Amino acid sequence: MTKDAEKKRPEGDPEEPLEQGAAGPARADEAFSTWAQVFQHAGWGLAVTDSEDQTLRVMNPAFALMYGYDVEELQGMSLAELFSPQSRPSLARHIHEVNERGRLIFESQHLRRDGTVFPVLVNMTAVKDDQGNVLYHVNNIQDISRQKRTEEELQRMAVQAEKHERKAKLAQKEAETASQAKGEFLANMSHEIRTPMNSIIGLTELVLDMELEPEPREYLGLVKYSAHNLLKLLNDILDLSKVEAGKLDIELINFDLRQSMALTMNIQAQAAHSKGLELAYHIHPEVPSALLGDPGRLRQITTNLLNNAIKFTDQGEVVLRVTVESQKENEVILHFSVSDTGIGIPMQKQEAVFSAFIQANGSTTRQYGGTGLGLTISKRLVEMMGGRIWVESEEGQGSTFHFTARFGLGHGYAEPVPMDLAALKNLRVLVVDDNAASRNILKETLAGWGMESEAASDTLKAIAALKQGHQRRHSFALILVDAHMPGMDGFELVEQIKQVPELAEAKIIMLTSVGQRGDATRCRKLGITAYLSKPLEPKDLQQAIQTVLSRPETITDTLPLITLHSLREGRRYLRILLAEDDPASQTLFQRLLRKRGHMVVTAGHGREVLDAIEKEAFDLLLMDIQMPVMNGLEAAAAIRRNEQGLGRRLPIIAVTGYDTESDRARLFEAGMDGYVSKPITPEKLFEAIEGVAAMPERPDNQTYSPVTDVIEITKLMVNVGGDRSLLKEMIRIFLDGLPEQLSNIKKAVSASDHEALKDAAHSLKGTVGHFAAKAAHETILKLEEAAGGASPERIAEILSQLEKELTRLKQALLAIKNNRPLI
Ligand code: ADP
Repeated sequence: MTKDAEKKRPEGDPEEPLEQGAAGPARADEAFSTWAQVFQHAGWGLAVTDSEDQTLRVMNPAFALMYGYDVEELQGMSLAELFSPQSRPSLARHIHEVNERGRLIFESQHLRRDGTVFPVLVNMTAVKDDQGNVLYHVNNIQDISRQKRTEEELQRMAVQAEKHERKAKLAQKEAETASQAKGEFLANMSHEIRTPMNSIIGLTELVLDMELEPEPREYLGLVKYSAHNLLKLLNDILDLSKVEAGKLDIELINFDLRQSMALTMNIQAQAAHSKGLELAYHIHPEVPSALLGDPGRLRQITTNLLNNAIKFTDQGEVVLRVTVESQKENEVILHFSVSDTGIGIPMQKQEAVFSAFIQANGSTTRQYGGTGLGLTISKRLVEMMGGRIWVESEEGQGSTFHFTARFGLGHGYAEPVPMDLAALKNLRVLVVDDNAASRNILKETLAGWGMESEAASDTLKAIAALKQGHQRRHSFALILVDAHMPGMDGFELVEQIKQVPELAEAKIIMLTSVGQRGDATRCRKLGITAYLSKPLEPKDLQQAIQTVLSRPETITDTLPLITLHSLREGRRYLRILLAEDDPASQTLFQRLLRKRGHMVVTAGHGREVLDAIEKEAFDLLLMDIQMPVMNGLEAAAAIRRNEQGLGRRLPIIAVTGYDTESDRARLFEAGMDGYVSKPITPEKLFEAIEGVAAMPERPDNQTYSPVTDVIEITKLMVNVGGDRSLLKEMIRIFLDGLPEQLSNIKKAVSASDHEALKDAAHSLKGTVGHFAAKAAHETILKLEEAAGGASPERIAEILSQLEKELTRLKQALLAIKNNRPLI
């Protein structure tokens, strides 16, 4: 330190340049000794260096300690020696800067005595004289190893987190792509596999219907059996992988539970009856019919349970019951149970049967076949429906599978209106059936209609009951007899009854699970009025009872036997256009439809469909979605476009291999009225066709469309304050004035008088506006806009559209005026 410098003692904030000469000599000494002490004891490293060569002149112990030296050792060393070799070259630049700016703070790497390098924060101040010459540098140096470590750690963590995040995002993206690809793959697979399976199964069934030698019949039976098994396996695997991929959707649609269960039971009937099993079902009267949920998945679960029950039961019965578990304002939890009298499941296996690929008994598996997937899928589906599934079973006694499921209370389907229960009230019925479950269910059903019933388990008991009834003047008006009973069967019972004149008055309905050739003739001979096959839909039974009761006392040959077929005979025979490119499927459909009495014309692709419907009128179009040249969706859209304004609508049923919610949405968007998914079974096909064909019939030769398509009725009624006579008066005025309004518009168009067109359109818009006729109103708006300067072609186009809309509106208004039905 120079002599001059010694006079200038550090003073004030050590980080501020030193102020000089502020106090007298005595005060300065005092101050100096105070500052000397601060300097000595400060916890941070302080050192004064030569401004020329950076020789360390004075430093405090903290400074020395930081570098691992004694104070004495450091004196005379150059500050540069404390810089690490890498940082050393920048020292000259720092000195230059500090001399220029007075103070500089920078980070650097310094060297301890033991050779280790550590990070420091250097706060360097240049102390200058009055002329601005730098006298010395004051260095405040902090070891920032710890901060650095924390910083680095934080940085490392941030990098790690970012890496993780990136990885997670990537994984998520990959998973999404993979699951999407998997979903698409599954959808394609299911389509690709079902299409050929469809032909195999369908055509096999057709051939089996022909006259065949026993041997080919047997082989074909095996083909059919194996094909069904293969299809079930495929469907199970696809379903399970869909569940795993989260691709299985539960739909929320309005459906009719009773209708849905009736269909399920009907499909099972043959399998049960061919094993000689009794199949029955009962839906408690409290169970609502109109539900909101997924009927397809519900049917899948019940079908699986029924299949198993039939499969694992060799004699006895299979019974499905549905009751209400709990009900709230908007939802209901239903309890389904399927019980059988089959082989049962050992206690210790009862949990496991719900796991994939697990079967209760390895040795029974070979005997009964199956994959062990059905219950796993059912369990997942039940859980998706907010319910649970469980089993109660005793080995050798039978099993009852229970499940619950949550449904919304639907709308759109009216609850079944009991036809005329008054006529059935207190009517005495005798139920004769050897099967206890069937007897009970029939009795419950009859009691639900207010009927009075007794049951007999065999013919002898039945005759006794009938005689007793007669003696007590409490005769039975109706007898429901099961045709197939051990010992004396139903027909024999009827024969006996007919021989006793006082018993012969009762009307008889024969119930059968296995229809046999000649049954109908036997029925007629014995004077049996109705012959119904099981399982019975309550509404069919009710209708049959009512029809039977309304028949004259004496049976004549001219009155046909009442059968399920005749009950449902409201069916029309249709002219169906079939669009299908695959020859095997074509043959299958043609045969099925023709066998059912329908007339079929075939087209190979969408273009041919459009040509065919140009040429002749059809009642229905049954169209595959995937066809060459023009696919089904395009064809449907084109048909709907062409129909616009004509007031006609050809019912279209799509045939599709895809079966997801979005696929179905696409179908309806394209204008389909219904669909059947492959593989096609006759039941599914006819259900779809009859469902669509049952839509209100519209006369072909009239261009007439339902009023509700043209007019928003509710809005209209609001517009007229609910006053029908006012509405009729308005319609009269509108229709009277319409020709003139239209002619004004046409005149303006042909004169290209834009102003006049605008006025005329505006005035028409005003009147049409009252009728809540959206399409017509929008078309007039378009015309009004176009009047502002659109091309004559465009105006002509809108005008022709307007004419069509006005025709539709006129017809709709006339229908209202003449009190015709609105739909
Ligand atoms: P699959 O029937 O295709 O083997 P499931 O998952 O439907 O597969 O059934 C799993 C197993 O549970 C069956 O293999 C059978 O051992 C047992 N099981 C299911 N239902 C019944 C039943 N009603 N009676 C006896 N055993 C049954």
